[in-house]
Amino acid sequence: MPDCRKEFNDEEPREKKYFAVRGLEKEEISDFLAKLKEKSFRGDQVFRWVQAQAVQSWAEMTNLSVDLQEKLASTFSLVPLKLVQEQVSRDGTRKYLWELVDGQRIESVLLFHAGDFTRKRTTLCLSTQVGCPMGCGFCATGKLGFTRNLTVGEIVSQVLDLTALQRHREGLRQEQFKINNLVYMGMGEPLLNLPVVLKSIKLLNYKDGQNIGIRRITISTCGLVPQIDQLAAAGLDFVLAVSLHAPNNELRNRIMPINRQYPLEKLLNACRRYIKQTGQRITFEYVLIKGFNDSLQAAAELAALLRGMKANLNVIPVNTIGGRQYQRPSFEDIQRFVSFLQEKGIAAVLREEKGSDIAGACGQLAGGLE
Ligand code: SAH
Ligand code: SF4
Repeated sequence: MPDCRKEFNDEEPREKKYFAVRGLEKEEISDFLAKLKEKSFRGDQVFRWVQAQAVQSWAEMTNLSVDLQEKLASTFSLVPLKLVQEQVSRDGTRKYLWELVDGQRIESVLLFHAGDFTRKRTTLCLSTQVGCPMGCGFCATGKLGFTRNLTVGEIVSQVLDLTALQRHREGLRQEQFKINNLVYMGMGEPLLNLPVVLKSIKLLNYKDGQNIGIRRITISTCGLVPQIDQLAAAGLDFVLAVSLHAPNNELRNRIMPINRQYPLEKLLNACRRYIKQTGQRITFEYVLIKGFNDSLQAAAELAALLRGMKANLNVIPVNTIGGRQYQRPSFEDIQRFVSFLQEKGIAAVLREEKGSDIAGACGQLAGGLE
């Protein structure tokens, strides 16, 4: 049994309970129950209550005796995230501000795709850290600096608590509301919290849990080369997204400090190794900034960098984060940039932006401090 208290980075959780049950696999729960001389199927039951039904309390586990509920409660913590604020965008996107057990705050963003409510395809954008240490110039989270990594339970809880909230609110049964896609693109750099992120993916992918398809899960990184190699070796089939944002080192150095440590040649070589080892396509992200990286010259350099790679390219007009330093190009310039790349044979798409009116779009998450 892992000591999940360590998950709190030695900070004292608000609820002085012990193992964060939402961060545990079925076998870990079963091992504990075996010590209480409980039958092994009880582990399956508890896991399903926690991960599939997204229960908010032990009392909801109605097929367990009150005695067992109490034993569980004295060993495990089941503390939902505290919802501090929910904002709804004009386009339906919802942004959730959560408070963690130590009072820190993070955000998640729920995006709806076409269709009516119960059949809607949903994507949840998850946070992996409180703040972020990478300091990218165009990103609101980067401006916060770094406080701490999230725990497995805190990452998984963003999915579970939101799912419980939506089901409860709409009076929907378990099978009627489900998050379909996950993007690890909220606050923080996921590859700096890699073991925790990988365990959260494993839990959310479980058939008996939320059962979110592995190819429907995307991890985005600003380009940490050793961790990209580790991911390639992990043999999991999620989608890797790499934030490129500039076609040469001179420009990339100016907006992404990580580029001094892992310049473009090293990063792209790691991406080539990843594609070779996993057989998967990589998604590159390119934030388009007016007068900085939006010229046809930049598009030509970018096309040359990506030529022959098994990759998609998402072009994202930059979202403003206060100040006027980083502005979106005009619609015509954005179209011209994307068309140029497409003509060069690059699989480039303009990514539709959602939730920018509630500061819920890429790079705008600031934990309620914006
Ligand atoms: N740290 C990871 C994942 C979180 S950021 C990463 O950097 O990839 C998720 C995406 O939002 C990244 O591609 C990031 O570059 C992008 N982003 C950050 N600030 C943005 C902004 N102001 N406008 C548009 N995209 C932004
Ligand atoms: Fe961190 Fe990603 Fe923002 Fe850069 S873009 S500061 S890596 S969250």
